[in-house]
Amino acid sequence: MSIKRVLVTGGAGFLGSHLCDRLVSDGHDVICLDNFFTSQKSNVLHLLDHSNFELIRHDVTHPIWLEVDEIYNLACPAAPGHYQYNPIKTMKTSVMGAINVLGMAKRCGAKVFQASTSEVYGDPTIHPQPESYRGNVNPIGPRACYDEGKRAAETLFSDYHRQHGLSIRVARIFNTYGPRMHPFDGRVVSNFILQAIKGKDITIFGDGSQSRSFCYRDDLVEGFLRLMATDDSVYKPVNIGNPNEFTIKQLAEKVIELTGSSSKLIFAPLPEDDPLQRQPDITRAKELLDWNPTIELDEGLQRTIEYFKSINTDDFRAPTPNY
Ligand code: NAD
Ligand code: UDP
Repeated sequence: MSIKRVLVTGGAGFLGSHLCDRLVSDGHDVICLDNFFTSQKSNVLHLLDHSNFELIRHDVTHPIWLEVDEIYNLACPAAPGHYQYNPIKTMKTSVMGAINVLGMAKRCGAKVFQASTSEVYGDPTIHPQPESYRGNVNPIGPRACYDEGKRAAETLFSDYHRQHGLSIRVARIFNTYGPRMHPFDGRVVSNFILQAIKGKDITIFGDGSQSRSFCYRDDLVEGFLRLMATDDSVYKPVNIGNPNEFTIKQLAEKVIELTGSSSKLIFAPLPEDDPLQRQPDITRAKELLDWNPTIELDEGLQRTIEYFKSINTDDFRAPTPNY
């Protein structure tokens, strides 16, 4: 294996920090760039004394000149409460962040990876969702800053590939969970686990019949590395997620069972434009990457529950009031 200089934007976040762990342990020269909007330095503290790891506090909406061989562009708030807190900034982060990393990739001749999302499919009318599905996004709703920002980033990546021959990879990530999720991100897995551990009511939005398909963090990051390692013919988006689909009510019941909690389920209004169902068609990832998720929900939840039991939530700053 050759040692590469790898930039990870959003590298201190939930997924980025685990990706940095993998790249550092593989011996690469890793630059983690983050503005710490939705993360903390503590996520990468253990990497700071590695000579092949470097941390830069920087906002991806501003240009930066670095010399790199590969770029993973993950910088963007990902939890609905976080990306809706300052929607204009969210759109700028996706679009200007993409322009800045693509410009850097063009100048350096680097390969560049975009962390896209299942949200490009919006509230899908096709189930499960293959990459060929063009989606059902409300362009003016509260999720649009994220959905349309990520769609615009995919457009920019495709155009830099067509116009300048850039080597691009685009992963459409479906709901991913695991250790180092932010305890105050308001996402369903972290919310339910913390509520269950603390014996608080579990808040189900809507009637809990909406579905999601949950992928464990380590499986997802393995998919990232395999996608980055493909040849340049793989420039079109690839879904990465676990196709095992659960309703939100089933998830709540599972969390109660695994934590042995006496928490009760309570029901709150479903947020506007909350997708009713979501499940990846991962045929393309299986064929191109020989990738399959290996950690199923019970095991992944168990590991995540252990993580949340091990942390002191007072050590975390809530990035926004929305959790
Ligand atoms: P996260 O919020 O933990 O990580 C995002 C990181 O980006 C944070 O460290 C944050 O501080 C940083 N960031 C945000 N804005 C920035 C800016 N302007 N400049 C520099 N850094 C900035 O979320 P995550 O779950 O780790 O998501 C990582 C990426 O994966 C995101 O791009 C997200 O859209 C994508 N994604 C995640 C999921 C999921 O289920 N976790 C699903 C789909 C897509
Ligand atoms: N959800 C819920 N209770 C919570 C947090 C979320 O019922 O405390 C629901 C939310 O309405 C959505 C699903 O869980 O239907 C997943 O929400 P999340 O914010 O994790 O991610 P999304 O897939 O919506 O981006």
